[in-house]
Amino acid sequence: MVTAAPDAPGSRSGASGGLGEIEIIERFFAPLCRNAPGALALKDDAAILTPPPGFDLVVTSDMIVEGVHFFGDDAAGDIACKALGVNLSDLAAKGAEPLAYNLNIALPGAPQADWLAAFAGGLDSCQQAFGITLTGGDTTASPGPLMIAVTAFGLVPAGGMIRREGARPGDSVYVSGTIGDAFLGLKIRRGDADAAPWELEPEARDVLLRRYLRPEPRLGLRAALRAWASAALDVSDGLLLDFSRLCRVSGVCGVIEEDKVPLSHGARRLTMRHTKLLRELLVGGDDYEILCSVTGGREPLFEEAAAAGGVAVKKIGKIVSWGEGVALAGSEGAPATPGRMGYEHFRRDHESGDLLRRIGDESASARETSS
Ligand code: ADP
Ligand code: MG
Repeated sequence: MVTAAPDAPGSRSGASGGLGEIEIIERFFAPLCRNAPGALALKDDAAILTPPPGFDLVVTSDMIVEGVHFFGDDAAGDIACKALGVNLSDLAAKGAEPLAYNLNIALPGAPQADWLAAFAGGLDSCQQAFGITLTGGDTTASPGPLMIAVTAFGLVPAGGMIRREGARPGDSVYVSGTIGDAFLGLKIRRGDADAAPWELEPEARDVLLRRYLRPEPRLGLRAALRAWASAALDVSDGLLLDFSRLCRVSGVCGVIEEDKVPLSHGARRLTMRHTKLLRELLVGGDDYEILCSVTGGREPLFEEAAAAGGVAVKKIGKIVSWGEGVALAGSEGAPATPGRMGYEHFRRDHESGDLLRRIGDESASARETSS
């Protein structure tokens, strides 16, 4: 059903009398199902998925909302890749092979063919890069922002999904890729005042921006995780917050060594010049890297398997049998319990930088008093 929605100001609105729901589905989305006979060319009420014998179906959903996860005037292809990428990141963290996804989209204003073509093009390139195909969804008008919810389906050998539960004292803690780039990219994208004096070269700026706009799911890590990880999750809301979630579900405590957290070249240079930034990177969010624990003694095997999958991993901490929650160990001495740990919806903390700055100050003074 489609009810008339007012034209919203923005790039997806145009003169009405244009595209309807059925035409959008047939023209832009049905071609994305070409490798999924079970999608029935999006001509039925539902699709059919048949997992091969001996496999479990892993199911995950993530929604992205204009003004929360992306900007309305981001390129349509980037928005598409983010919507799919954040879900593929969940599959990667669970050790799952991508199989199929459903796409639910609420479009403000009158849909524009150009925008939809670019959006579908983004999905198509992401599908091909990561071996997944569209199988269905829903298309509605939105009286508010653009919203895109993807549900992704993946496969693991029966019983083989890597969970958040499973980390044990003595395990090593690893993270993939680099942390904090997307947080810096968001500041650049938003034109934050504190990013103005950064003086980054255009290439370095583009790398950080791209990390925010198009998260790269670490699917190359899935075999290594299935073989050697005791627990895993993807880091989407901040390294410290997501680590604390893994520890809580596993019923353990953990320590991250601040100095070991992998940073990109650009992020490293910025933290050298602006020292307080480092703590912000650890709670920034939007990383879409994988954090996992590996049983003590298996580290070389995990590292070898990760390298074979083409994903850089770095040991950043350990699971311990003492303490409470998670702690940060800095070069300056005793582990300090971090303050704000990441991004949580419905909390006002992240709406201003004040709390972050305050926590940066607090932890600095905590370090001074402890030393
Ligand atoms: P119903 O009204 O019975 O729910 P729809 O008209 O919403 O059916 O959808 C018809 C078909 O189009 C279904 O197969 C559905 O999965 C598919 N579909 C609708 N919107 C999308 C979308 N955004 N992406 C992919 N498939 C879609
Ligand atoms: Mg429907």
